[in-house]
Amino acid sequence: MSQQFPITRLRRLRANQTLRDMVQENTVTLNDLIYPIFVEEELDDYAPVESMPGINRIPERKLDAAIKEIAGLGIKAVMTFGVSRHKDEDGSDSWNPNGLLARMIKRAKDAAPDMLVISDTCFCEYTSHGHCGVIHGNDVHNDHTIENLGRQSVVAAEAGADMIAPSAMMDGQVAAIRSALDGSGFSGLPIMAYSSKFASAFYGPFRAAAGCDLQGDRKAYQMNPLNGREALRESITDEAEGADILMVKPALPYLDVLSQIRQRSLLPIAAYQVSGEYAMIKFAAQAGAIDEHRVVRETLGSIKRAGADLIMTYFAMDIARQGF
Ligand SMILES: [Zn+2]
Repeated sequence: MSQQFPITRLRRLRANQTLRDMVQENTVTLNDLIYPIFVEEELDDYAPVESMPGINRIPERKLDAAIKEIAGLGIKAVMTFGVSRHKDEDGSDSWNPNGLLARMIKRAKDAAPDMLVISDTCFCEYTSHGHCGVIHGNDVHNDHTIENLGRQSVVAAEAGADMIAPSAMMDGQVAAIRSALDGSGFSGLPIMAYSSKFASAFYGPFRAAAGCDLQGDRKAYQMNPLNGREALRESITDEAEGADILMVKPALPYLDVLSQIRQRSLLPIAAYQVSGEYAMIKFAAQAGAIDEHRVVRETLGSIKRAGADLIMTYFAMDIARQGF
């Protein structure tokens, strides 16, 4: 027995920084990132979101300057969320061609025509009850809501949106939107479906940012956080309905789901690092408990490693400024 142990020494490839860089399997660039923004009408100045340090609601009238700043840093895509002052039972302002949703898309495209503007497509920011659709009795009515999602998508497309991202978690929403877009001459417009959107407690800070006063909860349409197989069914269904990109939301607590979808689908996959994930890192860093930049790098890297091609993240501006 002359064999010396160990023969395999994995540490050989970790011996110096250059070599470590060369064998690194994943990285994050600005091509991977989408920056979510909150645009509020009838607001004079930037309004800091208390639960999301560094994030502001952007006044509609200052959107041009904000978009130019974002584009100037090299960010290539934004996802728009409206903070509406014209809420009603159905969220009808979202499909008004002169409503906030259409105006903010137009303004963003005018300010930076090369910036990809992705329209979050839902109703919760536009309904008085905060739910993601039309209420019939005690329930969000699926089929009536997907009809309205189709209307909203066409208005977003006419305003210049580059991609439609339905987040309502209604059954058949991708097919309904695809059919509405195709019927209005937008067959070339892609759909990024929030396929696996969980009823997560990590959305708390977002609700404050988007001004959603939710009555009750969303458990009748968003997914149970303890289910994984169901997320695969949602993703397979969305792909069959014509989704061009699938999404998992939130990201970090659902990396297993992301990884399984990666193995089952050939579509690009996006992951949404949500407001609660952002807040945990920011507040822990503020308390001196963690090194923010390293933790951000590690979390974004792990989302890529699990199989995401694209990441929606509130850290996009920080990455653009400081690098990955
Ligand atoms: Zn919603």
